[in-house]
Amino acid sequence: MHIFREIEPLKAHLHQQHLSNFSIGLVPTMGALHQGHLGLVRASKAGNNVTICSIFVNPTQFNNPADLDKYPQTIERDIDLLRGALCDVVFCPSIQAMYPEASQIKFDLGHLDKIIEGEFRPGHFSGVALVVSKLFNIVKPDKAYFGQKDYQQFKIISTLVHELKFNLTLVCIPIVRETDGLAMSSRNMRLNEHERIRAAVIYQCLMRTREGLLRGQSFSVMKNEAFALCKKHDIKLEYLVLADREDLTLLGNDANVGHCILLIAAYVGEVRLIDNIFITENVY
Ligand code: AMP
Repeated sequence: MHIFREIEPLKAHLHQQHLSNFSIGLVPTMGALHQGHLGLVRASKAGNNVTICSIFVNPTQFNNPADLDKYPQTIERDIDLLRGALCDVVFCPSIQAMYPEASQIKFDLGHLDKIIEGEFRPGHFSGVALVVSKLFNIVKPDKAYFGQKDYQQFKIISTLVHELKFNLTLVCIPIVRETDGLAMSSRNMRLNEHERIRAAVIYQCLMRTREGLLRGQSFSVMKNEAFALCKKHDIKLEYLVLADREDLTLLGNDANVGHCILLIAAYVGEVRLIDNIFITENVY
């Protein structure tokens, strides 16, 4: 496995792969890897000759400095996991390499970055769009792999690729969960033993709301129940929204739930977690 910290040697290496007509799959991550990330690596390996995983805790996407400071960093372990997954290339640049000067660019992604996560994390998606654009330009992948876990992020990157004509295909991979349903996340490492048990309530809220909607119950009733369930378990529910799964338009009680996604964000202790579920889809 090749490991690069600098951009130019990585580009030189990938240039050779392009000359050999090898297809390149990119898996962008912020490290503290888990099986969710490794699922993306496996999908990339199945679909490309060369898989490159980037590990970079991108400062411009953190609207809360304390969240950035506490973001778990486990680079040695990550490299071992990627070696075990037979990843071909790891790119773990320094902040200096990715941002030699403070960036002047801000992305305005229209309604998509003002709603849901965008409402609670101003500037977050601009930072995501910035770093992902840099990675696409450096790596020039044929395919790039993202998780459904960050569904709004996936939609924003789809818009970016479409509008800026990046020459690549995006692939969205389903959410990998713990056995109690909690979506795997690097942030789960920050939960203490009690918080970790309570965190499963987030998935329960999604499942109960989904079941209620499929029974014909109104979204506002199900949402109130979810807030009550979270309160009972000392979880601060930030939002639970029902949205169109294509354009993320927010929907209310009269929605045709067939084409919808439920998205949730909640604090368990100090740790903010997000999750989502399609309303009509097999649950695995
Ligand atoms: P992160 O390191 O959290 O920025 O995530 C890197 C990529 O892995 C993103 O595309 C995430 O959506 C994806 N990802 C994170 N957790 C999961 C999960 N539990 N299942 C599937 N993909 C995930």
